[in-house]
Amino acid sequence: MVISKYPTDMEAKKLIVEIGRRMYLKNFVAANDGNISCKVAEDMIWTTPTGVSKGFMSEDELVKMRTDGTVISQGARGPSSEVKMHLRIYNENPEVGGVCHAHPPISTSFAIAGLGLDKAIYPEALVNLGTVPCVHYEAPGSQGIPDSIAPYARDFNALLLANHGAVAWGKDAMEAWYRLESTEHYAMVIMYTGNIIGKANVLSCDQVNELIEIRNKLGITSGGVPACAARPTNTRDVLATNTPAAAEPMQAQSCGCASNQNQSDIDVKAITQAVLERLAGLGK
Ligand SMILES: [Zn+2]
Repeated sequence: MVISKYPTDMEAKKLIVEIGRRMYLKNFVAANDGNISCKVAEDMIWTTPTGVSKGFMSEDELVKMRTDGTVISQGARGPSSEVKMHLRIYNENPEVGGVCHAHPPISTSFAIAGLGLDKAIYPEALVNLGTVPCVHYEAPGSQGIPDSIAPYARDFNALLLANHGAVAWGKDAMEAWYRLESTEHYAMVIMYTGNIIGKANVLSCDQVNELIEIRNKLGITSGGVPACAARPTNTRDVLATNTPAAAEPMQAQSCGCASNQNQSDIDVKAITQAVLERLAGLGK
């Protein structure tokens, strides 16, 4: 007996309903946004209907269609107009078994800013997801969207769609979902480090190469490589006081209010002493 690499119709429908529930609970979609699809044969997928909240779908609402766009069966509603994007990814990359598209708020904000996600800042994003380019804007539901993503379908795992949202794909629908989750998490971390904290230690080229080797060993052959820093800037411990030059005695900050000036001086001295003691201990 030949074991299919694809899920059965029943398994695919269950998976789509479950991913829809998670997509809704994670606030990746509002109203009836988003769409999910899962391949069940070389030329056949199940996908979500148009005009239905992804958080409250039932299996009998889902649509079965060929990857050439022919609808085989459906409930009360046909497929989303955005299914064209899914079909294009399946047709461009035969290894893909699932696609998820949503409008996660932070990824969508980056898409609105026209910024791809390409900072080498933490291993999970680099190994399992890779870089996430932002493709140019095309009108929702238009043929322009599938055309804009086609060049990236083989070499990347997710994309931001300018002024629209995010799409991710994988060998099955759950991997596509995990990559969409990772895209939003990656965007959130970049936002906090870049746009709110205003600083990020970018991984050095040696550190990035090490992660690429891990990725290759895992058999992951797709996913872009972000720009790296010439020298590592993440090799020093940062002590609890969070001072960048912990070995140097800290200067008391003037708080501009006479009443607690002494308290401020005492705290700074005590902290400086603790830092110096800890540094002395590290040298032993
Ligand atoms: Zn959309």
